[in-house]
Amino acid sequence: MTATDAAVRLFRETFGEEPQGVWSAPGRVNLIGEHTDYNGGLCLPIALPHRTYAALRRRDDRRLRIVSAQGDGVVELDLDDVGPGSPSGWAAYVAGVPWALAQAGHPVGGFDVAVDGRVPLGAGLSSSAALECAVAAALSDVFELGLVDTHDGRVALAAVCVEAENTVAQAPTGGMDQSASLLAEQGHALLLDCRDLSTEQVPFDLDEHGLALLVVDTRAVHELVDGQYAERRDSCEQAARELGVETLREVSADGLDDTLEQLSSDLLRRRARHVVTEIARVEQAREALRADDFDRLGTLFLASHDSMRDDFEISVDELDTAVASATAAGALGARMTGGGFGGSAIALVRAAEAAQVQSAVEKAFADRGFSRAPECFVVSAAGPAGRDL
Ligand code: ADP
Ligand code: MG
Repeated sequence: MTATDAAVRLFRETFGEEPQGVWSAPGRVNLIGEHTDYNGGLCLPIALPHRTYAALRRRDDRRLRIVSAQGDGVVELDLDDVGPGSPSGWAAYVAGVPWALAQAGHPVGGFDVAVDGRVPLGAGLSSSAALECAVAAALSDVFELGLVDTHDGRVALAAVCVEAENTVAQAPTGGMDQSASLLAEQGHALLLDCRDLSTEQVPFDLDEHGLALLVVDTRAVHELVDGQYAERRDSCEQAARELGVETLREVSADGLDDTLEQLSSDLLRRRARHVVTEIARVEQAREALRADDFDRLGTLFLASHDSMRDDFEISVDELDTAVASATAAGALGARMTGGGFGGSAIALVRAAEAAQVQSAVEKAFADRGFSRAPECFVVSAAGPAGRDL
């Protein structure tokens, strides 16, 4: 059974009628440009073939009934009871969307929705944005907002989904995930400029070069990481303040060492150095892709990983092991991707060597005695959120 059919079936079994349609939105993996989004910087995600599906039917009242194949039972509430921190739990990622739409001047009514998520949850591959964006695409259609039909409308929907996640689900997120899910195109990476939300489609078709992108979901579980994202954001903001700029985007990579001397601590120097050099690496990665220079891209992956491990300090043993073992087994480059402290790594590999790199990573995890084996899969750049049925 396809995922679309599964969502329809869950809808039917839960609500006893037919959905109006099924919409889906992809997870993403960021090729390079980590923790740059909230610094007004650049990032370069692709949409994954893995998607979250939402079968939905609009209602004539203001009730929300929400069920997920990955959730626990039906969550039922009134749209007027949705707000900051309410509801709690996973349903916030759904209920937050109509709330944020109304905040943005697009009031909608109630609906029933059945979700089936095929993006691994909590693996740093953005199942949360996939969920929000699938619901947002559905609401745009069934309430005839037309937002999903234009580029500018999709940009607006991405902002709505960020607001839903930040305010209702109360999870900090910088905006890359929602833009990738709504704007990335098949066969392309999305160069996203988080300063003005402008985008550029960069061809990304590894197949035709005999290459592949291997995702390694480390399945690592780390405690006490909740405050880490906030600490990194605060450090970046403080560094920007001390340098007298609005965001670290304004800091030039040329003469960086001298600039960083002005900062009040070594910690701030390292945090800022990651952000400024990472933004420069995104630009270099775009040039490498435009020139089909994949050795260069691999080198940039490795430099990015070192910067995240040493300067931004967001890597963990599992991620370092994935990167080191993939590279030793022949990958052109590898890096952790996403927010850090677990989640996934990516490796740029020759297609014919993907299986061998995967085995090497699995063996390294076993040798290190990590409690969970990694989940590895090859991905290509897929298309954005839209209607499936
Ligand atoms: P990531 O976005 O990297 O997967 P997050 O922690 O941001 O990790 O989001 C994961 C959370 O999103 C889950 O814990 C759950 O609350 C919610 N979620 C995502 N997809 C689904 C789904 N299909 N069904 C229910 N909840 C989901
Ligand atoms: Mg997320």
